[in-house]
Amino acid sequence: MITSLITIAYIAASALFILSLGGLSRQETARRGNMYGIVGMLIALVATAAAMNAGGLPVLIAALVPGLVIGAILASRVQMTSMPELVAILHSFVGLAAVLVGFATYLGPHPTMTAGESHLHTAEIFIGVCIGSITFTGSVIAFLKLRGSLSGKPLMIPGRHLINIIMLLITIGLGVAFFMAPDPHTGQWPLLAATILTGILGVHFIMAIGGADMPVVVSMLNSYSGWAAAAAGFMLSNDLLIITGALVGSSGAILSYIMCKGMNRSFVSVMLGGFGTEGGAASSGSSAPAGEVRSVDSATAAGMLEQSKKIIIVPGYGLAVAQAQHSLAEVVKLLKEAGVEVKFAIHPVAGRLPGHMNVLLAEANIPYDIVFEMDEINDEFASTDVAWVIGANDIVNPSAMDDPASPIAGMPVLHVWEARDVIVMKRGMASGYAGVDNPLFYKDNTLMLFGDAKKVVDEILTAMRG
Ligand code: NDP
Repeated sequence: MITSLITIAYIAASALFILSLGGLSRQETARRGNMYGIVGMLIALVATAAAMNAGGLPVLIAALVPGLVIGAILASRVQMTSMPELVAILHSFVGLAAVLVGFATYLGPHPTMTAGESHLHTAEIFIGVCIGSITFTGSVIAFLKLRGSLSGKPLMIPGRHLINIIMLLITIGLGVAFFMAPDPHTGQWPLLAATILTGILGVHFIMAIGGADMPVVVSMLNSYSGWAAAAAGFMLSNDLLIITGALVGSSGAILSYIMCKGMNRSFVSVMLGGFGTEGGAASSGSSAPAGEVRSVDSATAAGMLEQSKKIIIVPGYGLAVAQAQHSLAEVVKLLKEAGVEVKFAIHPVAGRLPGHMNVLLAEANIPYDIVFEMDEINDEFASTDVAWVIGANDIVNPSAMDDPASPIAGMPVLHVWEARDVIVMKRGMASGYAGVDNPLFYKDNTLMLFGDAKKVVDEILTAMRG
């Protein structure tokens, strides 16, 4: 009876996870999708606890309660701008869990199996531990890079591809030794060596990727963490963990594909690393952008916005840092009331997290029907009076299109310079995440509006109300 109930609960949880992913694919249904995910996870937790024998419950509770408390405190305190780091470190936990489950399954008591089942189980353990180890160390490096504790620049060790291939071949050799080991006492050593080696591989892989490729790294590690969870599911013979892991793994892989498309990069070239961080224009061989920078004050900018017929707003990372979205929503409301057509243009890698800008705008209740993806809106800049760039930089850098020597050459960008006027709001002339100079700031139709985005949007709001 209890086994049937647990199976039903697992099926219900799996269905809710699928509905959750479906809901998260559109802004209008994202909240509902989140709700499905939370309910699915609750069902999964209760069913898993019910499936355990009573002796294991105290251990489960001892692990679960502190984990829940720490998780709840960290998640409630985290700033939106620190979300990528939080996501990266959570991926590392999944990887570490897969490694620990692998060792525990291998060294713990074995259920009776046929020879075929036993071989399959050994392979599951080895593959699960290796994927877990790569995910663990790779995610820790991504966390440190996103946090700024490690340089975002790719580490380009000479012969690094050869080093990776050699490490992979040694890992395969260790896999064979592990497979042939007569007992866990002998097998634990190749397993341990493979864990360390794949851990180093994870560090080396992610150290070599950086700059403008970081969005793909985040989604790629998301995918790895899913496969690590699925591997843990195989080791524990837990169907729900296999399904959940496969869902996370495949959706992360699809997201990586979308991010690669957004950056006009192939997955292989991302893995080979080195994009967007050759030190900016200075070392790209092209000359640094030069010319006169013209600036305006908030009152003048407010007047320009009010007198426009059509405005496209381009939000970037600086909007998230400044938390200017609520004031911006007020400005948008006033402009729309004054009959100005206002639209938002979202670049696929804007901010520091896939969907970062959509979340910010949704938080401020900006209507979804005025928010457009890059491909939908890029042709409209030419018929726009003012392109208003708020805290964005790399995603509006024309050198990606005009300068083949630019470190970010080939990355699709928003064509803001085609608008009649461009207002760029940022604090100074600093470069963006990819560390590349931006010729947009020196164009004849560009006006810089310097200051913290929240402060300046508030000033614009005051000027408009006045
Ligand atoms: P950028 O990082 O290119 O530029 C942001 C700009 O905002 C900076 O130049 C900065 O200039 C300005 N800024 C910072 N704080 C403030 C503030 N308080 N007020 C006003 N302006 C501010 O951001 P974009 O969104 O244009 O591009 C995203 C970049 O991040 C891309 O290179 C992408 O590859 C990368 N990335 C994206 C990820 C994703 O998943 N979306 C993940 C990891 C990396 P100043 O200091 O002069 O104010």
